[in-house]
Amino acid sequence: MPTPTSESLLSQAEAICQQRSVRLTPQRLEVLRLMTLQPGAISAYDLLDLLRVSEPQAKPPTIYRALDFLLEQGFIHRVESTNSYVVCHHFQEPMHTSVMLICDRCGGVTEQQADGAEEILQRVARNSRFSLRHSVIEAHGLCSGCEKVEACDDREHCAHDHQLSSGKKRGR
Ligand SMILES: [Zn+2]
Ligand SMILES: [Zn+2]
Ligand SMILES: [Zn+2]
Repeated sequence: MPTPTSESLLSQAEAICQQRSVRLTPQRLEVLRLMTLQPGAISAYDLLDLLRVSEPQAKPPTIYRALDFLLEQGFIHRVESTNSYVVCHHFQEPMHTSVMLICDRCGGVTEQQADGAEEILQRVARNSRFSLRHSVIEAHGLCSGCEKVEACDDREHCAHDHQLSSGKKRGR
């Protein structure tokens, strides 16, 4: 993951919650912290497993409540097509339109700002007298690392893991 570190994202989140007078409980903060350590998106159940390391009594509703809060504050995005969640790297821009580049092979998700796409969506929304609040564009394909592996033609001698197959469904 490039740029913002886990710590700087967490302190940003704390400052924003203070400004908004909403409570970032230690539990919500912990869920966000765990998410910032992920290389990509993570499912609620995988997140629950991680949370149970520090909070053994945590139950699915615990996670969903924390995720709802984090979604509301715009700190994370839901990746609908893989039913997972990913940290947003643009906390300060609650209205932004992002493109989620989802790798079908490794499940990695990278968020990219999509400025041109935003204008198009706004125009479509205006034409339909629809008041646009939030949108996420999800694009599927192969990340650069996986593309290399898929293109490999020396499967006998290489060090790649060719077991992972394209189209594997993650999440749940
Ligand atoms: Zn975002
Ligand atoms: Zn990949
Ligand atoms: Zn190979």
